[in-house]
Amino acid sequence: MIYFDNSATTFVSESVRKRLIELTEDSLSANPGALHRLGNQAMDLYEGIRKETAGLLGAKPEEIFFTSCATESANTAIKGYMSRNKRSGNAVISTRTEHKATLESLEYLANNGYEIRYVKTGLDGKPVMESLEEELSKGDVALACFTLVNNETGAVLPYEQVFKTVKSLSPSTVIYLDCVQALGKMPINLASLGADMCSFSGHKIHSIKGNGILYVKKGVRIDPLIVGGGQQDGMRSGTQSAVLAGAFLEALKEVSEGIEEGLSNVSKINSYLRKELTARGAVILSPDDALPYVLNVSFKGFESETMLHCLEIYDIYVSTVSACSAKQKKVSYVLLEMGVDRKTAANAVRLSFSRYNTMDEAEEFIKRVDEIYDQFLVK
Ligand code: PLP
Repeated sequence: MIYFDNSATTFVSESVRKRLIELTEDSLSANPGALHRLGNQAMDLYEGIRKETAGLLGAKPEEIFFTSCATESANTAIKGYMSRNKRSGNAVISTRTEHKATLESLEYLANNGYEIRYVKTGLDGKPVMESLEEELSKGDVALACFTLVNNETGAVLPYEQVFKTVKSLSPSTVIYLDCVQALGKMPINLASLGADMCSFSGHKIHSIKGNGILYVKKGVRIDPLIVGGGQQDGMRSGTQSAVLAGAFLEALKEVSEGIEEGLSNVSKINSYLRKELTARGAVILSPDDALPYVLNVSFKGFESETMLHCLEIYDIYVSTVSACSAKQKKVSYVLLEMGVDRKTAANAVRLSFSRYNTMDEAEEFIKRVDEIYDQFLVK
């Protein structure tokens, strides 16, 4: 099997699997909110995990909240900030190339009387700076939402330039940053990054599904999305799970140690595939300076889903960025927003790598693409 769909999700690593078993032992499984000794032990374990996680991300423990996924983190940050800070402004700035977790949260705000202003995106996948300046200069901007690494193309946000522009034209604007596809693939230090709220997802870094993180910088106030028993300082109610938090931490430790090695390995795979696929007439849609973990490529003569299923025959797994329904063929909104023409976008396939992928797999992939062209292309 060749699994090139790591931006969708990753396999659980051996060490996460091992850690999960350890953390489900009876002696560690009490409710951290319980008053008895076992409860105190469970709380100590949980808070220890929170502290270590915060340390690896360059944050303070009280700035880290464990959630069920990055979608929950995005919803909490975006809706929670606007709900709590009504006097900070009525407008939110973002781009149309965000993940649906952000776009649908913004849609919710739009339906509740807020103004959402979308900054244009260029063919390089980056926000157009003149458009950003124009939208900011209209004033009243409480929140700006961006993504550090785009999940469909790997485009990297020039965050220093973007944040500098936001803070200079609209100093009180708070910044939310989706860091899901960047975690473990490029260094992240939340103390110096410049974002006020960030989201992370465990299952994209070889942890299990069901764990996410929300970072909220000290001093930024938001309303919780999930209320109840007041756990996690009232920010996210529900009994804390040291199992889920511990799985995230284990995965985070592994990826944090291997950032450079992973990048070097994946860069080789990416460069090889770019070269070989281009030589075969495919069009590379990921920008040249994208993070090499994602390679978006349009295959001539094959619609996205057709290519996905052809590759599946050979036990090769990729993803389409378009979802087909019986009535209407949907093409990636990200690629269209970047200015890619509809026909090219309709043939786009996303290959996404993890540090565990190999050059042998890349070579095998090219071999199979040749076979698919020989066998299935209608000439
Ligand atoms: N943001 C980005 C950029 C993503 O790629 C994803 C997952 O595909 C999410 C957010 C949502 O993550 P989760 O599955 O943890 O909700």
